[in-house]
Amino acid sequence: ILDVQGLTKVFGDFTALQDASLTVLPGETVAIVGESGSGKSTLAKTLLRLEDATAGAAFYAGRDLIAMPPKELFALRREIQMVFQDPTQSLNPRMSVGQIIAEAFVIHPGILPKDRRAARVQDLLRQVGLDPEHIHRYPHQFSGGQRQRIAIARALALEPKLIICDEAVSALDVSIQAQVIDLLNRLQDELGLSYLFIAHDLPLVRDFAHRVVVMQGGRIVEQGPVRQIFEAPREAYTRALLAASL
Ligand code: ATP
Ligand code: MG
Repeated sequence: ILDVQGLTKVFGDFTALQDASLTVLPGETVAIVGESGSGKSTLAKTLLRLEDATAGAAFYAGRDLIAMPPKELFALRREIQMVFQDPTQSLNPRMSVGQIIAEAFVIHPGILPKDRRAARVQDLLRQVGLDPEHIHRYPHQFSGGQRQRIAIARALALEPKLIICDEAVSALDVSIQAQVIDLLNRLQDELGLSYLFIAHDLPLVRDFAHRVVVMQGGRIVEQGPVRQIFEAPREAYTRALLAASL
């Protein structure tokens, strides 16, 4: 579903991302791991053109996200959503949960008539395990894990095929992390979603990802099936990263 080829991002004279190539197959979870500053978020942002790539291509359903005209990208962006680490930053505190989730339909009008949006929002809340009666509540009236569920519901509103999660569970308690991962797994089964899942926590990745991409200093140093990365890593750096996580 996604084929990234030689993606590169230079800030001034600093190369944050160098020649990154990876693929995500339909229905697959690909994890990106690496130390702080290794270029994980830069990869995600360049893919979605939140940052301009310096070089490279990223084919989604055969079309290059990096080169396509903004109008085409806007239409495609329905299918590729992003969930960030800190929902307190990404959820507008002045908007109710209903408004936050329905905003997608305001940005992309034609998709769902106004009179059907509230019911759809309630369905989405149910789908992520929240009480549909809470549609009028505000973000601060939910726990951290619940807020991340709201962010996921918002991402699901436009029926995406690919969700890029940038440290989407990193700020949560371990038990809550597991619940959100269960939710993501269930949604993948139900909806056939693909995930590009950026994470710090290797044990979490081990249970959740199909394939793992290891980054260091802006480069991909190793990638492969999750079992290979954890049980027979080829690169010394991957072994060090695994050892540090035990
Ligand atoms: P973390 O695990 O801490 O989130 P990361 O792997 O996501 O780290 P990035 O955010 O991709 O790392 O940053 C990679 C490098 O690029 C860092 O050294 C960072 O300082 C640099 N960088 C990121 N954004 C910019 C920017 N807008 N201007 C200049 N440098 C940047
Ligand atoms: Mg990051």
